[in-house]
Amino acid sequence: MILEGQTIPPDARSVLTIDLAALVANWRQIADRVHPAACAGVVKADGYGLGITDVATALARAGCSTFFVATLAEGRAVRAALPPAIVYVLDGLLPGAAAHYAAMDLRPCLSSLEEIREWAAWCAADSRPAPAAIHIDTGMQRLGLTAADVDTLAGPEREILSTFPISLVMSHLACADVAAHPLNETQRTAFLALAQRLPRAPLSLANSAGTFLDRAYHLDLVRPGIALYGGRASTDIPNPMRPVTRLSARILQVRTVAAGTPVGYAATFTAPDARRIATVASGYADGFLRALSGPTERPGPLVTLDGHRVPVVGRVSMDVIALDVTGIPEREACRGAWVELIGPTSGLDDLADHAGTIGYELLTRLGRRSHRVVLDGSV
Ligand SMILES: *Cc1c(COP(=O)(O)O)cnc(C)c1O
Repeated sequence: MILEGQTIPPDARSVLTIDLAALVANWRQIADRVHPAACAGVVKADGYGLGITDVATALARAGCSTFFVATLAEGRAVRAALPPAIVYVLDGLLPGAAAHYAAMDLRPCLSSLEEIREWAAWCAADSRPAPAAIHIDTGMQRLGLTAADVDTLAGPEREILSTFPISLVMSHLACADVAAHPLNETQRTAFLALAQRLPRAPLSLANSAGTFLDRAYHLDLVRPGIALYGGRASTDIPNPMRPVTRLSARILQVRTVAAGTPVGYAATFTAPDARRIATVASGYADGFLRALSGPTERPGPLVTLDGHRVPVVGRVSMDVIALDVTGIPEREACRGAWVELIGPTSGLDDLADHAGTIGYELLTRLGRRSHRVVLDGSV
């Protein structure tokens, strides 16, 4: 079985294609735009669902040397693949876990005075001044030091910051996807003022969306995630990134239904006249979200069959979806044919909009049930 030039085993019902050459091109595009700022790679959540080892390795080959993960386990995965990489853990320091970070040379993004004190104490006790990042909150109220915490660190607890090297001072933008949002400038100004009171270290503020803002936001290191994977980061401009993923699935069965016949769970779609319905081998368990179901009695989001755009009808179920393929030639809409559910023509962000979510969620939900094809650029 051949799909897009790839040999697919006959027992594969759905295929997730991951184009590492596109991923690398996306990283280079951002790295070029922000130069002389450095460009890291955010590979949390298993590389946004695409496979943390493959993603991190491809980025490292392209010249990326700094990675951000959310969890210790993800940090271990990057460390195992890339011994020389600099790896930051966004969770910060879990209580009692300092030795686990240090053993793998993982750098916590220290987010509170408690975390900083605990890391400093561990470094002092072990005589191992292991580097860490300091995360300052400037507008998310999620993770990071408050302005009052910075006062404490710049004042009474100043000594503590000499016990380990601060390799990065960072904050995170809440509204960078809207360039004109006033919170962007408020956060940037607050960040620079607070960072200035800490020991001098490289500064990082921009996520993907931040890399599309003015240079003043790029500082020393940018931290793109979603844009590397082809997702839309900024709502202000057409998405310039290359698509990286494609979810394809096979038609299991095609049937003609008569006018008045209900289709799928809860009978939410009734054929208004004679219709050809194709049942396709992917559902919400494969990451094709149930929120992508067709609205009651109307066609839903469009997917792609041999260049034809065809709608989902009825409810998305766990393992299958129904498409209305009326009018598509039978040699194309047939048992075994491949349908592009998410990909270059069935855009990730368009589908996410349809589902009332964002590309991030769609990507990170892509299941483990699909046969994976990783294109490394050599094909
Ligand atoms: C996830 C994350 C990023 C990357 O965000 P994108 O919007 O995917 O570019 C950067 N910084 C922090 C702190 C994050 O949590």
